[in-house]
Parts: sequence; C-alpha cells; structure tokens
Amino acid sequence: MSEVGMSEVDMSEVDGSELAVRSLAKAFGGVRAVDGVSFDVGRGEFLAMIGPNGAGKSTCFNLINGQLRPDAGTIRFQGTLLNGLPPRAVCRLGIGRTFQVAATFGSMTVAENVQMALIANAGEIYRLWRPAAQRHRARALDLLAQVGMREAADRANRELAYGDIKRVELAIALAGEPRLLLMDEPTAGMAPGERHALIGLVKRLVAQTGISVLFTEHSMDVVFAYADRIIVLARGKLIADGDARAIRANPKVQEVYFGSGRTFAQADNADDANGGGR
Ligand code: ADP
Ligand code: MG
Repeated sequence: MSEVGMSEVDMSEVDGSELAVRSLAKAFGGVRAVDGVSFDVGRGEFLAMIGPNGAGKSTCFNLINGQLRPDAGTIRFQGTLLNGLPPRAVCRLGIGRTFQVAATFGSMTVAENVQMALIANAGEIYRLWRPAAQRHRARALDLLAQVGMREAADRANRELAYGDIKRVELAIALAGEPRLLLMDEPTAGMAPGERHALIGLVKRLVAQTGISVLFTEHSMDVVFAYADRIIVLARGKLIADGDARAIRANPKVQEVYFGSGRTFAQADNADDANGGGR
C-alpha cells in the first residue's frame, strides 16, 4: 500500500471517482469471463451493471471484492490499488457487499443478526457474544429502522418473509459502514413489486448517506427506474455506458439482449409472466 503515490489519490479526489477499474481481465481456462473492462463508480452514485447470463458481472464483482485475482488490469478504490488484496483487506478499506440468505442465522433474532455483524466489524470476539446480548443493540435498531425492519427486531430470522430477509441482509451490509457497497443480484428470487421496493429503498439510502453502490439486477424495469447510470457487459466486454434513455436506445444493447425486433418493455413483460427470477 505504501507504493501508492499521493498524486494518484488526488486524481481520484478531483474527478469524484470512488472506484476506478481499468482494463480488467480474468479468464477461466479458455473463457474470457472479463475481457478488458474499464469503468468508474462515482461518489454517491447508484450504478447498475447489466448484461445477459454469463456476461462476466459476478466475476467483475469477485475481482473487486478480492475473491478473485485479476489476470490483468487495475482496480483502485479512493486511489488505493486493490489488486491482490484479500477480501478482508478490501472490506476494511470500505468496500462492503451483501451476502445471501444462508449467511444469516435463522434461529437468532433479526436484531441479533445485525448485532453480530457489528461485533465482527468492531473486531470483537464471538465467544464474548452470549454475555453481551445488549452489545451494539441500539446501533442495530438504528440500522433496522433504516431498512424499514425496526418492528421485526425481536422476531426470529427464520420467521421472516423472503423480501424482509433481503432487507436484513442490507442492514448487515450497512453495519460494516461501507463507502462502496457491491450488490450482486440483491433481488434474486423476488417478485417484481418487491424488487422495486428493495431497489427503491437502496436508492434512498444512497441519497441519504452518500455511499456509492454498484449493483446487478435482472429486471430492466427496475434498472431503468432507479439507476443513476448503467454499464452493460456482454461476453466479458463493456459495450455501453450511459443513463437509462441512452441504454434503452443503444442498438448494441438491443442486439445483445434481444437480437433484432424486440424492445426492453416486451422483455420485462415476459419476465414478469414467468416470475421475474432467473
Ligand atoms: P454473470 O454473473 O454475468 O452471469 P459470470 O461472471 O458468473 O457471469 O460468468 C462469466 C463467465 O465465466 C461464464 O462463461 C461462466 O461460465 C464463467 N465462469 C464464472 N466463474 C467461473 C469459475 N469459477 N470457473 C470457471 N468458469 C467460470
Ligand atoms: Mg452473476
């Protein structure tokens, strides 16, 4: 880390970019999952990454959060080079991520799940957990209030509806006080109405807290309604970058998603008819 010069830090301050990804590449055997991808996430930006299945979105996320090592390219966060850092170090620098349902403990209460995340974040040890049931409780309740789950604080996690579990996952991610939050398919398996509610909630949190969010979302309807900007991946390459209007009208994007002749509106109706998930 000491190798990073001050001038690079200043550069990112000047252009308002939190995350700068340049010429990022990762192959699995012969498959170029991510193939020379460059993009920025601006401070306070709610940025959607879209693309068909297998486009390389999850691989991008895993390269950023340190789960995978890039073959080539650079990832800088607030000017600091992330290449080769393990996930814990990336997290400590302020990049959080949402985890799937399995990461929460069903028999614990909603508040306890969030308290555990706060305990982990503070670097405290788990065996001190039992005698300290009140530890971080006030902060946990605050976080639950932010995601609209304050009322459910003392219910067992396993009693919750699916959409509510997703809100708890969001509270757990926020417990780490990220400056950039990575959300890979946060609404997977949710009905269209719930997708709107959750992504709308995240968008409001972004506006309130000033954090940046990079997310993937299958429903175009939701992406177009809430994303500040959209980047599009196809076969490992970035093929478009713009606002909803520009992306909707982009012939390359249309081609990748639908071949010719169909529109995004038609595609969303088809998704909704078969439950929206993938
Ligand atoms: P997306 O998230 O956009 O659906 P992925 O990043 O999961 O796409 O996958 C991109 C490509 O890389 C796909 O062809 C996928 O099969 C391949 N891939 C992803 N992860 C691995 C892995 N761990 N080993 C081998 N191939 C992988
Ligand atoms: Mg994926």
